[in-house]
Amino acid sequence: MARQTGPVCKLCRREGQKLYLKGEKCYTDKCPFERRSYPPGQHGRQAAFRRRRASDYTLQLRAKQQARRIYGVLERQFRRYVRMAEGRDGLTSENLLSVLEQRLDNVVYRLGLADSRAQARQLVQHGHIMVNGRKTDIPSYLVRPEDIVSVRPESRRNYYFRERRDLLGQREVPAWLSFNEDDLSGRVLALPTRQEIDVPFDEQMIVDFYSR
Ligand code: SF4
Repeated sequence: MARQTGPVCKLCRREGQKLYLKGEKCYTDKCPFERRSYPPGQHGRQAAFRRRRASDYTLQLRAKQQARRIYGVLERQFRRYVRMAEGRDGLTSENLLSVLEQRLDNVVYRLGLADSRAQARQLVQHGHIMVNGRKTDIPSYLVRPEDIVSVRPESRRNYYFRERRDLLGQREVPAWLSFNEDDLSGRVLALPTRQEIDVPFDEQMIVDFYSR
């Protein structure tokens, strides 16, 4: 399964904003973006000073890259999501966000079972997560309303999940999901609406990028 590799903090510096890809570290003063908020590379600092007004294409490209980086999706799969969003009723831009949110690794993250989507992805790949009672180790699996996402009973006894219980509740679970702390399971109540998704990019720009 393809995934983004390499140093992720560089991605925040490249995008010129914090993308919160590293979980807890992002909220501390160890976050590299706090010290070096200019683009990475030998000429990054000079480039930041010389920055000209961005073209429409640049803005659209950056919005698309931010979305890919936040959700940890490679180009080919992202393009597939755009086509999927076009095939659904309603606004393509909002449908695209909804598809991204439906990813199993994102749902595990949103339920508060992981600090970041990358960590959630690892939990899924390592077989700790079930969907409707069946082990599901595919991070890109798209959940649907009424699906139950839970931690496997054998995994609940793991050190990680025992420790995790203390952190539950620190992050708010979005309204389209419900979470049961007793058995570490969540239910998908509905597909998320635009108002329920907090992302720093303009999704319409992504649609414009692909319709050039
Ligand atoms: Fe981005 Fe988090 Fe790294 Fe800071 S610590 S640069 S927010 S990934």
